Amino acid sequence: MQTMENTDVKQQSTDNLKPELIDPFGRRIEYLRLSVTDKCNLRCFYCMPEHYKDFEQPDNWLTFDEIERVIKAFTELGVARIRLTGGEPLVRKHLPELASKLHALPGLEDLSLSTNATLLGKQADALYQAGVSRINVSLDSLRPDRFRQITGGELQPVLDGLIAASHAGFRPVKINMVAMRGINDDEFEDMVEFCLQHDFTLRMIETMPIGDTGRNASDHYLDLQQVKQRLAERYELIPGVMPGGGPARYVQVKGTDLRIGFITPISQHFCETCNRVRLSVDGTLYMCLGQDDKMELRPLLRNGISDDELKQAIITAIARKPEKHEFNNRPEQVVRLMNMTGG
Ligand code: SAM
Ligand code: SF4
Repeated sequence: MQTMENTDVKQQSTDNLKPELIDPFGRRIEYLRLSVTDKCNLRCFYCMPEHYKDFEQPDNWLTFDEIERVIKAFTELGVARIRLTGGEPLVRKHLPELASKLHALPGLEDLSLSTNATLLGKQADALYQAGVSRINVSLDSLRPDRFRQITGGELQPVLDGLIAASHAGFRPVKINMVAMRGINDDEFEDMVEFCLQHDFTLRMIETMPIGDTGRNASDHYLDLQQVKQRLAERYELIPGVMPGGGPARYVQVKGTDLRIGFITPISQHFCETCNRVRLSVDGTLYMCLGQDDKMELRPLLRNGISDDELKQAIITAIARKPEKHEFNNRPEQVVRLMNMTGG
């Protein structure tokens, strides 16, 4: 584990900096996932323990002004895309206010959101007006009883939230479905039909061993290559593309607009094209979802760091981005939970 000491960060002129962040493996970092809270109103069994309460203290949350400052620094270093995530981002109060601030930053080209959609019905319009244009919604089952077993919550508000997102103007709306053997592996075709019907994009995800919850879920791990083969028996799948630069490999259902993405961190890892870092609610910058390399930006911000020093701190952190995760050979490596890092 590499934990950077704040005292390591030295002032350095940024006069000659090109607006790009390149890590030691030649990867251009141009995408940041911003966790605005580690709290959630659901308890997906693969993400957060049922009675988990060990949330970050509000005093330690980055304020909207602090977030804006950090994201401004990132955009000045060439990061053009931000995704709001969590925990459940919509439980953080006044999120549209933050979205507007970020959307107004000159270097920002794309502001998106990952949500469980339970609270989206009431917030979809305000978020869209604030400049969020793309949205990903977690949905692992279309059956109310099963949805409740997986998440501890109710399905209907999620469906209402999805419809509100479509009406508000979000395009595309992507459904994120974690594919799990013995849990929802009899619903893949139903989810394809649901997405066809509503003009949503479908993305299937392999379970990752993140925290104890994630490791438990690995008992239900399904190799998505097999899922793709299964879908190919029912649908004619042709190669598909989807703008966005994410790790999903897409196919399209021939004769329709439906694209299905497969996110395969385990069976076919995509670390060599990783273009992202994650900022948690307490201002910790994580360089990799599957490693513990990090830099704590909050103490720097609260100790009066200058804008140039902040950018230099970010550059120093990126220089420590690890080459790859080790989910396969060291699954015990990441002890923090997904909601803490920002999924
Ligand atoms: N609450 C929001 C949501 O559910 O979309 C945003 C945060 S959530 C942590 C982001 C994504 O991480 C979700 O699509 C969720 O399914 C995924 N996720 C959480 N734990 C996971 C795990 N152990 N393996 C694979 N995906 C996981
Ligand atoms: Fe909450 Fe999202 Fe984690 Fe489910 S996956 S518990 S909705 S943060």
